[in-house]
Amino acid sequence: MQHLCNDTAINVAGLLKVQTGQVREFELALDRFPLDVGLFAVDVAGELRLTRLRDGIMARVTVAGTVDLECARCLRVYQQPFDIAFSEEYRQTVDVYTGAGVEAEVATDEDTARIDDNHLLDIGEVLRQEILVALPMRPDCGERCPGPDLAAIRWSGDDEAPVDGRLAALARLLEERDGE
Ligand SMILES: [Zn+2]
Repeated sequence: MQHLCNDTAINVAGLLKVQTGQVREFELALDRFPLDVGLFAVDVAGELRLTRLRDGIMARVTVAGTVDLECARCLRVYQQPFDIAFSEEYRQTVDVYTGAGVEAEVATDEDTARIDDNHLLDIGEVLRQEILVALPMRPDCGERCPGPDLAAIRWSGDDEAPVDGRLAALARLLEERDGE
């Protein structure tokens, strides 16, 4: 098995020259993989399996890793694990022997993943989207979550920070209690 370290693009010129159905397997390791502005997946590790198709290559990816997210309850940053598997078909755009364009009709489809003119197959964009989709809509640091930081809510002031209505009411209660 070959290694793909801190890179998501593979030169598949060799695989494009073999028979349909042939497989290449890679061990994938990414120390830090950007997902969005200020958002990264770290310690991403898994496997990438490429299968030669008649007009392209099927990439099968299984990876796990973590993303630093902010807990929606306590607002602390925690490590959210993810473990995903997906397949994506990459169309061949140029003939590996002649360099001539192939499958011209496919090129008009914006959503089709492609192997580029230099025979590079890059799983980066699909991987990025798949990890984002796997993350929880409401990040939660888990059973050990201490819950909302009441002290912070109390001192943030009612008129400044927008606070959840129930929390604001709770903060006012605490202030009243302190005043007694
Ligand atoms: Zn939490």
